[in-house]
Parts: sequence; structure tokens; C-alpha cells
Amino acid sequence: MVYNFNIHTERENFYNITSYVRQAVNESGVSDGIAVVYCQHTTAGITINENADPDVVTDLLYALDKTYPDRPQFRHLEGNSAAHLKASCIGSSVTVIIQDGSLLLGTWQGIYFTEFDGPRSRKFFVKIIKG
Ligand code: ZN
Repeated sequence: MVYNFNIHTERENFYNITSYVRQAVNESGVSDGIAVVYCQHTTAGITINENADPDVVTDLLYALDKTYPDRPQFRHLEGNSAAHLKASCIGSSVTVIIQDGSLLLGTWQGIYFTEFDGPRSRKFFVKIIKG
């Protein structure tokens, strides 16, 4: 079972998509298995991080900007190589265990869609595998 979701993004931000993934798990009826959350984009990603203190996301965005600044030496004509770097650093997917019908996330964990080159209309997919 694959579920797809649309998201409209701002320029650069993290979007908590945990509720969408929970919705897919509930709709699937799978009580034990795994959920793969994946996006097809090259300047956006999927990650797991803290869902309690919003300052964590602010700090992550700040640190990613400092680590991967735009550089005049970049050759990519679209001019968004920094966004490509950040997307590769974050990765395109996460896998979460489903146990007793629930995502096996830690108390402080949330699943995030990470935008590095918005505003855009984006998609992500949730694949549920029983087992
Ligand atoms: Zn590009």
C-alpha cells in the first residue's frame, strides 16, 4: 500500500508530517510492519527530529545554512546547489517500525518534510509493509 500526500511549502522550513504518516498506518490496518516515508525531490528531504521545542528546527536550519552556504564557485545553472547539498545531507526517506498499530517513535520524535528550495508544491509517499 502506497499513500501519497501533497504539501505546499515556504522558502525553507521543516514541516511536521507525523500525523499524515499515522493516518496512512491507520488506513492500512497494518498492526506490525514498517512505514517508509519517501520524497522524490532533489532539493527537499525527509528526516526525524525533535517535535517538542520549535527552536530545534530553527537551530537546524541555521546550522545547515552555515554548513552549506551558497558559494560563487558552484556551477549548477539553476543556482540552488546549496539546496541540493542540504537535501543530500538530510536524505530522501526514513523508515519507522509499526508496532501494535502505532509508529514506534520516541516521545520527542517527529517525522519532518524538509524544504530547502521553496515555495513549492511538493509530494511525499508513505509505503506500508506488513511483516
Ligand atoms: Zn537545481
